[in-house]
Amino acid sequence: MTSAVEEAGTETLRPIRAFELRVSAVQQLSPHFRRITFTGPDLELFGSNAEGRTLDLRIKLMLPSPGHPLPELSHVCGSLQEDWYHNWRMLDESVRGVMRTFTVRSLRRGTPGSDSLEPVPAELDIDFALHLDGVSGPASEWAAEAQPGDAMTIIGPCARWGECVGIEFVPGFAQRVLLVGDETAVPAVAAILESLPAHVGGHAVLEVPEAADFQEMSTSSGVEVRWLARGVGAHGGALAAEVRSVVVPAACDRGEDPEDVDIDSTILWETPAAATGHGLYAWIAGEAAVIRDLRRYLVREVGMDRNAVAFMGYWRQGQALPG
Ligand SMILES: Cc1cc2nc3c(=O)[nH]c(=O)nc-3n(C[C@H](O)[C@H](O)[C@H](O)COP(=O)(O)OP(=O)(O)OC[C@H]3O[C@@H](n4cnc5c(N)ncnc54)[C@H](O)[C@@H]3O)c2cc1C
Repeated sequence: MTSAVEEAGTETLRPIRAFELRVSAVQQLSPHFRRITFTGPDLELFGSNAEGRTLDLRIKLMLPSPGHPLPELSHVCGSLQEDWYHNWRMLDESVRGVMRTFTVRSLRRGTPGSDSLEPVPAELDIDFALHLDGVSGPASEWAAEAQPGDAMTIIGPCARWGECVGIEFVPGFAQRVLLVGDETAVPAVAAILESLPAHVGGHAVLEVPEAADFQEMSTSSGVEVRWLARGVGAHGGALAAEVRSVVVPAACDRGEDPEDVDIDSTILWETPAAATGHGLYAWIAGEAAVIRDLRRYLVREVGMDRNAVAFMGYWRQGQALPG
């Protein structure tokens, strides 16, 4: 059998590839968070940034459509050519399954064995925010039932393609950060916090369904983490109030009006290529309407430079975003 690495020698490399993985562990972190660990020889080729970090690296999961078996993905394997998405979309949904976007919570490189040491397999963690109480979806349902041994195809960056595609957190030389998100952004914020050096300060503000979902965060930075429990409140209500208390508009510092985005027909996604200043850099992700309102506040009322703010609608209440 040829390994994934040997196969790549004969492939035309592309920025992304499909990874055939299996669940190796499942851990219920809290009432609404479930960590699924994946492993497989393909992971040797999984990309990360130059420092070996994944930060907010987004990946695609190929899930079975409800009521159907695992997607038939024989044409989605190895390096993905430019037309793979179009070809995949042309298949019947019962065959192609559904695609959902998630974040790599952590990637652990494997080590080969030696005479005295057992080999350690590479592993990749994804933290799923379960939304089973109200309207559920294929990803949430899959994660709730996942067991060691289950198969999964993940689309992510190819380590051999010089640059790692899918990372939006680019703070440049910013000395202060503002990291804001709901439960779907917690995995990204956790990975970002782990990467920040001691001289970076600021705030991370995170809203989750209940206090039992608060997590230990590990960071060497001076960033203060504030957890908010939503309880029966509106989604994003606590987040909006806390951001207003952390970042207060200067008396006469009104900024430009950001153009309106129709969040029901477009995905709210505005990410600067790289922050240029040394001041505050903001990274904001979660439910699209909540993020749109925070964008208005930070750009218009606070007057933040749009080149220093990344806004990302990770999901839209009442809609299943097409993969
Ligand atoms: C770049 C990026 C990174 C992401 N990273 C993560 C991650 O690491 N972990 C994570 O859990 N999510 C993450 N998400 C969000 C995730 O893709 C969505 O929540 C997705 O809709 C879940 O798919 P589903 O099949 O469960 O639900 P869908 O089929 O997409 O949606 C079904 C219904 O559920 C609702 N819904 C979807 N998500 C939620 C939610 N969280 N709470 C309440 N209702 C919801 C929808 O509005 C819809 O009505 C990320 C999204 C993006 C764009």
